Amino acid sequence: MISNEELAERLFPEIHIGLEELEARYPARNLPEGAYVTRFAPSPTGFLHTGSLFTSLISYTAAKRSGGVYFFRLEDTDTKRTIQGSDRDLIEQLAHFGIVADEGYFPDGDKGEYGPYRQSARADIYKAVIKELIKRGRAYPDFATPEDLDAIRKIQEEKKELPGYYGVYARDRNLSNEERLARIEAGTPWVIRFYSNGDHNRKVKFTDAIRGEIELQDNDTDVVILKSDGLPTYHFAHVVDDHFMRTNLITRGEEWIPSTPIHLDMFRALGWKPPKYAHIPSIMKLENGNRRKLSKRKDPEAAVSYFLEQGYPPESLLVYLMSIANSNFEEWTIAHKSFDRDAFPFSIKKISSEGALFDQDKLSYFSKEVIAAMPLEEEFGAVKEYAGLFDAPLAAKINEDPDYIKTILNIGKGIKNPRKDYAKWSDVSPLIAFFFDEEYEKIVANGLPFKEGLTPEFIRDFLDDVRQNMPFGTDEATWFDAIKTIGARHGYAASNGDYKRNPEAYVGSVSDCAEMVRIAIVGRNQSPNLHEVLGIIGKDRVLARLDRVISLF
Ligand code: GLU
Repeated sequence: MISNEELAERLFPEIHIGLEELEARYPARNLPEGAYVTRFAPSPTGFLHTGSLFTSLISYTAAKRSGGVYFFRLEDTDTKRTIQGSDRDLIEQLAHFGIVADEGYFPDGDKGEYGPYRQSARADIYKAVIKELIKRGRAYPDFATPEDLDAIRKIQEEKKELPGYYGVYARDRNLSNEERLARIEAGTPWVIRFYSNGDHNRKVKFTDAIRGEIELQDNDTDVVILKSDGLPTYHFAHVVDDHFMRTNLITRGEEWIPSTPIHLDMFRALGWKPPKYAHIPSIMKLENGNRRKLSKRKDPEAAVSYFLEQGYPPESLLVYLMSIANSNFEEWTIAHKSFDRDAFPFSIKKISSEGALFDQDKLSYFSKEVIAAMPLEEEFGAVKEYAGLFDAPLAAKINEDPDYIKTILNIGKGIKNPRKDYAKWSDVSPLIAFFFDEEYEKIVANGLPFKEGLTPEFIRDFLDDVRQNMPFGTDEATWFDAIKTIGARHGYAASNGDYKRNPEAYVGSVSDCAEMVRIAIVGRNQSPNLHEVLGIIGKDRVLARLDRVISLF
């Protein structure tokens, strides 16, 4: 008779470390009561997904707020899907959002005492645990081929039984150890499966930090824990890594909820205390009236890079994601007149279990606030960086006259109610175009939006008067009085009150009059404060623009 001990030894002769030594190598962390140890554990299979940024923001914030540790683990066991370089990209993109791990995998070397933090470098640890499970009769080598598994599925379908490799269907769980070794020695490919003692007629309960108590059918499937390539599956790696890395709050996507009974089953078999789980809701999208998850294939906003290319400041996206994480955040920003995430009392419990719909307007709203509150130098630096990457004409303008751009960006800044012109850096070019003479010329060539019904003579006479009599270098009130006086000569009401009492008596209101001037100078009927704009463009260029427009009529 070959014992389980002997089987374990024959399968993994190279493994000499046992569970006790692993426990000692990775001792309980010395942290204050209530401190969370969280992690972000992506697979290096591509770009940073918006949902992943959301999850990592929550993991990071939960750890930081509680005086705990946030670490980064690279889950690179699916070698076929691994994309070279995406580990570095993920870490750099997260760093761009200020999410830098306290410990974990870094492309230039691990940091921390609980590593290695790259799963492919942890094979010996997984094997040591498996060796122990085999000794305890809680894991075994399995030889089922894909065809065998298909045949089992067919029988289950016919008998209307639950699908899966469990109980009597777990064909190889009762092979003798002699048979197992004979097959292995004959070169039959094998994997290792977990031997479940669960029962799918029973329920297991666990408390989710977001959703409260969750009750699910118990696991009884003998899941694969070690693949034929010698690497673990997600289920097993999660249990082993989060145990030895001493993670105490698992923040992961809600798609893992149905697998949690498998993980609890393994924690039980190993006699380990399971961590707390917080299953993070997915970010949703509305399509034809139906909610669905943001999709990598269909939605550009599923990739974080999309927001960076559009020029949203990282902080804008984080503030927006915080408003999804805790729905009371927006109320808090209004009450505190602040968008400082760090000052907000974030709470895991307050995360809504229902996935929020991605809301572009909300993102724009928050982003305008974030940009409006940004100090000028910071805003200028960000615009410059963005232009260097994505907007060559703007970069050239910045290079030529940085102070001119700064002056433009500074309009309505640093005051009680700062202007909220830009939601993203790609808004800057079109909004500031009229400050440049060549661009102004293009706008004029496309036609100026003067109100219909005004005769060419009227427009010409009015603008002529403005050209002769509009003062420069005065304060705003003096300038505006002069505009009113000019307007009055052409039939505009001198006050809004006069106009309201008797609109028929006038060509238009004071604002209609100012709009005429605005259209002539900037080419549009909207712009930041016109008096400031005139000051920036300067007398000579303003007069030249008036001449240009007058010549059209
Ligand atoms: N690598 C897994 C994923 O990308 C991690 C899930 C987890 O956080 O446990 O989905």
